[in-house]
Amino acid sequence: ADHDFDYPRCPEAYDWSILYPEVTNTKSGIYNKRVEMLDIGCGYGGLLVTLSPMFPDSMILGLEIRVKVSQYVIERIKALRANQPNCYDNIACIRTNAIKYLPNFFKKGQIKKMFFLYPDPHFKKSKHKWRIINDTTLSEYAYVLAEEALVYTVTDVKDLHEWMVQHFSEHGLFKRVEDGDLKDDPVVDKLYESSEEGKKVTRNNGDKFLAVFMRIKDPDL
Ligand code: SAM
Repeated sequence: ADHDFDYPRCPEAYDWSILYPEVTNTKSGIYNKRVEMLDIGCGYGGLLVTLSPMFPDSMILGLEIRVKVSQYVIERIKALRANQPNCYDNIACIRTNAIKYLPNFFKKGQIKKMFFLYPDPHFKKSKHKWRIINDTTLSEYAYVLAEEALVYTVTDVKDLHEWMVQHFSEHGLFKRVEDGDLKDDPVVDKLYESSEEGKKVTRNNGDKFLAVFMRIKDPDL
């Protein structure tokens, strides 16, 4: 049941200053920024912590469906902010179902970068419909993504990698970014090991498959 998910009627109805008090409280009282990067299924928050100093001018949000895990990330960020004033003010985490509520939180074209690190593989064919990347969810992601925004995916599961590449490629609003064009992107190197799942895959000598996609202009518009 979803009755225990809190979500706003529309993005304007959400009080972002609770998540980002230092960033959003300008002297005039007007928000000067909005969330631009999403870590979908952020787990324990390792990527958020890594991205924070890399993009000090961007508001970055982790979305995590598990109550305990999201609480852990919220506490982790609180402790980091307390220990290092003026740092980590640009990252936050909320508990939500990213498959369902993105348009409630974010406006059309708002998001510049979206991350899917080691999403749950749902190995069995009968469970594939639960994969966080599928035809339906991709249309929602495309809606909140800006033109030329980038979506980064990493997994240790080859079958899931191929599934994601196939779904993004067939969707119509995304094109794959060739590996050669990723050389100068400082984010790419951080994707393999920043998150807790990435570290676990390294310890187990697992494979890591990367694929990056660009949100392209809607050819019908
Ligand atoms: N990205 C993290 C990392 O690399 O360490 C976590 C990877 S973990 C295998 C997948 C995470 O996605 C889990 O924490 C899970 O609770 C979360 N998740 C799964 N479905 C979700 C959904 N619909 N909305 C938000 N989070 C979800």
